[in-house]
Amino acid sequence: MSEVKSDIEIAQSSEMLPIFEVAKRAGISEDLLEPYGRYKAKLDARALADKPLRGKLVLVTAINPTPAGEGKTTTSVGLADALTSLGQSAMLALREPSLGPVFGVKGGAAGGGYAQVVPMEDINLHFTGDFHAIGAANNLCAAMLDNHIKQGNSLNIDPRRIVWKRCVDMNDRQLRNVVDGLGGIADGMPRQDGFDITVASEVMAVFCLASGIKDLKERLGRMVIAYTYDRKPVTVSDIHAEGAMTALLKDAIQPNLVQTLEHTPALVHGGPFANIAHGCNTVEATKTALRLADYVVTEAGFGADLGAEKFLDIKCRATGLAPSAVVLVATVRALKYNGGVAKADLNQQNVEALKEGIPNLLRHVDNIQTVYGLPVVVAINAFPTDTAEELALVEEECKKRGVNVVLSEVWAKGGKGGQALAEEVMRLCQTESKLTFAYDVKESLKQKITDIATKIYHADGVEFTPSAAKQLQQLEELGFGELPICMAKTQYSFTDDQTKLGAPENFRITVREVRVSAGAGFVVCLTGSIMTMPGLPKVPAAEHIDVLDDGRIVGLF
Ligand code: ADP
Ligand code: MG
Repeated sequence: MSEVKSDIEIAQSSEMLPIFEVAKRAGISEDLLEPYGRYKAKLDARALADKPLRGKLVLVTAINPTPAGEGKTTTSVGLADALTSLGQSAMLALREPSLGPVFGVKGGAAGGGYAQVVPMEDINLHFTGDFHAIGAANNLCAAMLDNHIKQGNSLNIDPRRIVWKRCVDMNDRQLRNVVDGLGGIADGMPRQDGFDITVASEVMAVFCLASGIKDLKERLGRMVIAYTYDRKPVTVSDIHAEGAMTALLKDAIQPNLVQTLEHTPALVHGGPFANIAHGCNTVEATKTALRLADYVVTEAGFGADLGAEKFLDIKCRATGLAPSAVVLVATVRALKYNGGVAKADLNQQNVEALKEGIPNLLRHVDNIQTVYGLPVVVAINAFPTDTAEELALVEEECKKRGVNVVLSEVWAKGGKGGQALAEEVMRLCQTESKLTFAYDVKESLKQKITDIATKIYHADGVEFTPSAAKQLQQLEELGFGELPICMAKTQYSFTDDQTKLGAPENFRITVREVRVSAGAGFVVCLTGSIMTMPGLPKVPAAEHIDVLDDGRIVGLF
């Protein structure tokens, strides 16, 4: 067998088109581009804002994943290339990768194999600097908040009730909890503080949900950063930071144009966590792509219980967008993982475990069809280790339930390997569908959380810890009762226990804390323990990343 090339080797041996050429393919005139070198550009989305949203939106989501990811980005990129290869006008709207996973366990997030967006090193590293700008805006707010306290604290902020954290785009557990402001009277007010990873910050969520500068500024202003001694919320606009924060973000908010290996135009923009936030690229990028192309392929993070749920119940509800078709990515590996196979043994054939894992897939399919009312196709992302017997079993089980299954070979073959998927997606896009939501936003917070848990996770109900119940009541009293819910839950299970794989029954979800993200416009509901500042593993991916003497980056995957 010939040696399999790594993602970065494939990406580096590809010929990219100059970004002006890519723009031309998308019908974007040169004067709307702000090039960042030869292969990346910011796109003036404001100049396109009057154009109608003409494209069909295709959402790519997945079953509950293995820790390595299931190939949603890879499938998204390959599907867009397949649509292009069939003569369609297609565009991608994807998230920007965070440096945390790039240097940690998962590696990059620009697709894989022959289905990647390029230049992959740039996209995975600093790209156009958006995340640094978001970090700077977040930290400006932190500096102004602590300065307000130091300068006399006229707002009566209780330093023990500051809910704003500093952030950095790095997996750095050392910063999770810190004491700062040490020194003396001139050095600030000592207090316990902490850092989140930038992608977990509310500024990131706001950035991704904002429509235009005005909305961005208003959302930033609404963010709750602390509470006073008499427990009143203090917002960014109370410390007059929203204008300067918006100034730091005004270039970042324009979508980034890049290309796939096969030159399909891609907007890669924004990247919020899929637990504490809603997990999909910016509204600006999705809408801009829908103004330019007939088909827009976009991805939601984690499995469909988290990513698609929030894409639909938060992003689509807030913007009026609705997918015309949903692609549910499954891998034989992840189905076996859901059937109880350890990560190290996933490369061996195991039909029994596969049978155990398939109900996970079927439950997600059922949710998309019956809860949300959307047409769905299952894309099996083919891995070199899959056996014919295993693939046949997945197809057979889905066919029994009348769900179309398509083998996607985009990782190995690029767009050519995704044509069958593209044809099924085009067919689904012709069918009539009407998006319905998992809950009515006018219901109480508790009812909305219960609706998600029972309809999407198939739980029997929800336990609220006494402190969570109290927080919910306080949020309703403060007027946040009509916001949608952003569930923070493990991505590995339908339950809040990551060891319960497959399609578990007879369980309840425990909500232990709730917080408001008033700028993003949702109430975050924490189940289990959710990390907003990850750490690095024993051997971080960063140890294998290097730069050769000629400037070429190696070891990034
Ligand atoms: P997700 O978006 O679901 O997190 P990605 O598309 O980023 O997943 O893929 C995760 C990793 O798996 C990438 O490194 C990618 O190269 C690899 N991968 C994806 N699909 C395949 C495949 N069919 N065969 C082998 N490796 C794959
Ligand atoms: Mg991805």
